Amino acid sequence: MIESELRNSTTAQVVAELQRRPAFVMVSHVKPDGDTLGAGLALGIALKRLGKPVYYFQQDPVPRNLRFLADAQFVSRDLPPDLPPDTLYVFCDMSDFTRAGEFLPKIERENMLDIDHHLGNSHFGAFNYVIPTECSTGTTVMHLLRELNVEIDRDIATCILTTIMTDTGGFMHSNTTPEVLELSAQLIRAGADKEEITEEIFANKRIAATRLLGRVIDAMVFAHDGRYCYSYVDDRMLAETGGDGEDTEDVVNVLRSQENVEVAALFKAYDGELRVSLRSNGRINVQAAAASLGGGGHFRASGLTFEGSLTDAFRAVEAALVAEGL
Ligand code: AMP
Ligand code: MN
Ligand code: MN
Repeated sequence: MIESELRNSTTAQVVAELQRRPAFVMVSHVKPDGDTLGAGLALGIALKRLGKPVYYFQQDPVPRNLRFLADAQFVSRDLPPDLPPDTLYVFCDMSDFTRAGEFLPKIERENMLDIDHHLGNSHFGAFNYVIPTECSTGTTVMHLLRELNVEIDRDIATCILTTIMTDTGGFMHSNTTPEVLELSAQLIRAGADKEEITEEIFANKRIAATRLLGRVIDAMVFAHDGRYCYSYVDDRMLAETGGDGEDTEDVVNVLRSQENVEVAALFKAYDGELRVSLRSNGRINVQAAAASLGGGGHFRASGLTFEGSLTDAFRAVEAALVAEGL
């Protein structure tokens, strides 16, 4: 048995805790994606159906392309001041609670439930429900919803299908197993609106985003016999194209999908921060490379925040990838 399984709570233990607690705060990570938010909303909506008060904490605003999700209008960085002391904070889709950002008030470990599918999750909660073989945190939540015996209605189904489509890249990545496709079919039968998810998340691109993509493509560099492709986005590119951080989300996948490319990196140097997104075709473990620089993620998709100049980041990331066999 692997160590993370040893330290995990069982489905029954987590469900008992969900039934016992008087109130909940669903917590998503900074720079939210469809998985962190969709998983929290799905479980939050289910707990509300059971008569529990539920709040949603997210430091950053809901990205434009996720505002169609039910309950998204209740997501905020402000929490009510009078929450019961044994409110359970449910962290979705993060290997450590620090990924929730610095605006979250200090929370005792005994009030933390960690639901996730990342490799290297730090098991920071009193309750940890971490299943790295799941394609998304949303599909991890599904095990709890079944045991809670809540009806998977249209809103919940759309949230869970959003987590799947986000983290499988629209059923393209290798985590798209037969089980994932079977679950997706069940969710669509339960009323999940696949068309709406496709339109909101994958189509419907802003013109500024496409212009920004053009700039990133112009700046692409190929190294290591074309197996490594990297590029960057900075404040100037955003200002000149009218794009913003939300428009950079998918760009690294374009770099990775060039012929012969095994690993891609996008360096995002804007708003006073330098973040790096890494993607692999499966040969090189980019989670290990990111972790060696203080980040994390999955074997094929990871990220990190870098302290230093863009040039230093290019060098450090390349060295970390070489250490992983690039
Ligand atoms: P991104 O490239 O931002 O889409 O992130 C890809 C994956 O890496 C996601 O699973 C993230 O949760 C993870 N990740 C991104 N940035 C960090 C970070 N600074 N620390 C830990 N994990 C990260
Ligand atoms: Mn995520
Ligand atoms: Mn995820």
